[in-house]
Amino acid sequence: MHMYHMSSHHREELLHQLANQTYDVVVIGGGATGSGIALDAASRGLKTALVEKQDFASGTSSRSTKLIHGGLRYLKQFEISLVKETGRERAIVHKLAPHLVVSEKMLLPLIKGGTYGKLLTSVGLMVYDVLAGVESADQRIMLNKEETMKREPLLREDIVEGSGYYAEYRTDDARLTIELVKTAARYGAHSVNYTQVEEFLYAEEEGKKRVVGVRCRDNITGTTLDIAARKVINAAGPWVDELREKDKSAEGKHLHLTKGVHIVVPFEKFPVKQSIYFDVPDGRMIFAIPRGRITYVGTTDTNYDGIKENPRTNVEDVEYLVNGVNNIFPEVGLTVQDVISSWAGLRPLIHEEGKSASEISRKDEIFVSGTGLISIAGGKLTGYRKMAERTVDLAVKHLGMPFQKCKTSKIVLTGGEFHGGEGVEAYTQWVASQLDQYDLDALEAHYLVSNYGKQVDWILNAIPEWQKKGHSAAEAMILAELDFCLQHEMIQNAQDFFIRRTGRLYFNISSIETYLDLVLDEMAEKLSKDDGWKAEEKQKVETYAREASNFPSVSVSENLA
Ligand code: FAD
Repeated sequence: MHMYHMSSHHREELLHQLANQTYDVVVIGGGATGSGIALDAASRGLKTALVEKQDFASGTSSRSTKLIHGGLRYLKQFEISLVKETGRERAIVHKLAPHLVVSEKMLLPLIKGGTYGKLLTSVGLMVYDVLAGVESADQRIMLNKEETMKREPLLREDIVEGSGYYAEYRTDDARLTIELVKTAARYGAHSVNYTQVEEFLYAEEEGKKRVVGVRCRDNITGTTLDIAARKVINAAGPWVDELREKDKSAEGKHLHLTKGVHIVVPFEKFPVKQSIYFDVPDGRMIFAIPRGRITYVGTTDTNYDGIKENPRTNVEDVEYLVNGVNNIFPEVGLTVQDVISSWAGLRPLIHEEGKSASEISRKDEIFVSGTGLISIAGGKLTGYRKMAERTVDLAVKHLGMPFQKCKTSKIVLTGGEFHGGEGVEAYTQWVASQLDQYDLDALEAHYLVSNYGKQVDWILNAIPEWQKKGHSAAEAMILAELDFCLQHEMIQNAQDFFIRRTGRLYFNISSIETYLDLVLDEMAEKLSKDDGWKAEEKQKVETYAREASNFPSVSVSENLA
């Protein structure tokens, strides 16, 4: 077996290992939270396993706004410690993966009667910078009306009074998660996707019933396997309570799920010059974020009790966001028909009596059950590392092991071996020059580097091989990517590739139609699958693509629970 076990071809071997060892820690859930915990635990020397019932990051961790941020809105709610911790984390995570957590300026227009007045914005952003430890060159500036309109001519001139211009970081949640899983694997963690915890295994210890493992279903073959563990950590995001119920420990606080939708429009349709955080008529604020060929807009925030595996974007969600955009960018004249893709995610928040969806705190919390099960809920992508630190600190204490401090603030993620943002920029230029020989667009260089970081070396090396086999440069590039994901990122099907590993469903949806057959042919050959599998997979991807751009009404999709 390879030094680390992330090849799609080694799944069987990996499952065999999982069934035949006792782990210090088994983590349930391969979102950002669980993957961060696996990396923290493995890097402290704990024998670690992670099981994910669908694909890594297929829950909330591929459906966020994709910002690593201090959360300006938390300042409004006076959650100072949350702003401080997540704000500081941004700078750390940027160092660990400079290609994936990229510093970017955000424009916050001040409008007549808006959420933040001029003084509050100015002081608020300053406090935000101080709490988050933002370097002075990057601290917020306040712009007058004229300067604001220059930065963003699409804004509605009659109501804009000025703006705040401040530092944020953008990321790709699914890529961050997969790099965490891969980095954990480098430290010896055994992580597997499509493996679902169905029940807990218990033993009597000193007269008490203790969790000593998990019984899992392999969702690809349908077989069952038991994994023995000294400690089980439930990091199942929106599913945390389902697992607590299985452990009969779901008393006290419980989850409150709210749905957040983002819509995607062609960049030409909504060509914002930079990311913007703006007021919508009902008093909330939403983001518009340009990314390569598209601009995405979100989010909504509504209570949710439908099926958790695949929340849908409704026509009402789309209209809310479209109206929000048109309210402050009237020239754009967005319509529901302009929306080419979308995603909907569930926030696993901790319920607070009497609070509305957007008022509930985003703080994380750890629950320990009588059987010793540790559950972690709430929180943000941005706080994944600190959440992992607290959880593993507790697990180590429970296990009575010699205490070792968390090491993850120094562990560079796979693909992140750059000297800061400048290193990423220089490398991107070099990649663009390499792609130029094949007549591939410079946008592809940005796409590849922000997805895979330094691992683009591997992909570039593979392109000529595919060309020799008679493929065009564009085909050779996607086949090289596919091969990389098969060998290093445990993809099991075409959705894993098109949605989580490459983000093509959201950011380049038309490329799916072009390359779906090519990708399926190659995957079927590499994974020894037959034509029936190909047909089924094709249908699944086409359904996802259709669902991302066709919107039912709320009553159709959300009352299926
Ligand atoms: P998930 O990513 O959902 O992972 C849980 C995993 O557990 C799932 O993959 C699931 O399949 C798996 N699982 C469940 N049950 C089982 C089982 N029985 N066996 C095995 N596996 C199981 N945060 C930010 O920092 N910045 C943002 O910009 C931001 N924007 C957001 C926008 C929206 C609309 C939403 C919804 C959230 C946003 N967040 C943001 C919050 C952030 O996305 C979440 O806090 C984070 O992704 C949660 O990760 P998680 O690992 O806890 O949950």
